[in-house]
Amino acid sequence: MIWRELFAEGKGRLEASGNEDSFYDARALLQFVSGMTMTDYPLRAGEEAGAHEVRAFREVISRRCAHEPLQYITGYAPFFGRDFLVRPGVLIPRFDTETLIEAVLPHLCPGMRLLDMCTGSGCILLTLLLEGPSGVSGTGTDISEEALAVARENAERFHVNAALVQSNLYSNIHGVYDIITSNPPYIRTRVIDMLAPEVRDHEPRLALDGEEDGLAFYRRITKGAPAVLKTGGLLAFEIGYDQAESVTAIMEEGGFSRVNVFKDLAGNPRVAAGYLQE
Ligand code: GLN
Repeated sequence: MIWRELFAEGKGRLEASGNEDSFYDARALLQFVSGMTMTDYPLRAGEEAGAHEVRAFREVISRRCAHEPLQYITGYAPFFGRDFLVRPGVLIPRFDTETLIEAVLPHLCPGMRLLDMCTGSGCILLTLLLEGPSGVSGTGTDISEEALAVARENAERFHVNAALVQSNLYSNIHGVYDIITSNPPYIRTRVIDMLAPEVRDHEPRLALDGEEDGLAFYRRITKGAPAVLKTGGLLAFEIGYDQAESVTAIMEEGGFSRVNVFKDLAGNPRVAAGYLQE
């Protein structure tokens, strides 16, 4: 079978499974099994695919048809121009989270200490350290050892020096920081079952479940922040599209002022950031 036919077969099966990105996903999976790049494909589409490659492609197409996230199959997720390693047990970086990077980057100065709570794959912490000025030191925490293992692999992959600490929120954190960032779990428990099967059945609940009203981690992280954040320091959260008012109120009640909300590219509120008052 030639590659063009194999691609069409895979794309058709994805489409039939209800996949709205069948072209993109079939292309990504074909590249994954063949090692072809986007520019190789048009040149090689008429070549015979090897029996092993045919089998491998059909198998990953079946997994994707069963709603396994593309990024868990390929092992990578793009974030802010880099491919982060991911696997089950760690939340897949979202495009929306780039809003948090853009909101925080202008605040980074050499010598600062950055704390990223619920770091997951490390995409926020490592991107800020890579994109910011040199001389910023970074700590990432997660309750999940599985997530921390992935964050450590990503730190190594990008040659970033960061402390990655297992901690139930602040339980193992004792330093003083200039900036705290976090994309905590913020989905209301009862909404989780209504999410896409990719998210609901494959991504870690621990990274999604913000408890009954979705705000539990904003309350806990805000409450604990004054003990480790410098006066005047910045606390910056990713938030759900409908959480701007609630999170702003939580931060203001918790001693933060000048809370700003930043929108994502779809125009939804996506980040809330404020300063610890004197
Ligand atoms: N943005 C993720 C989603 O909507 C949620 C991530 C989180 O809870 N922090 O699936």
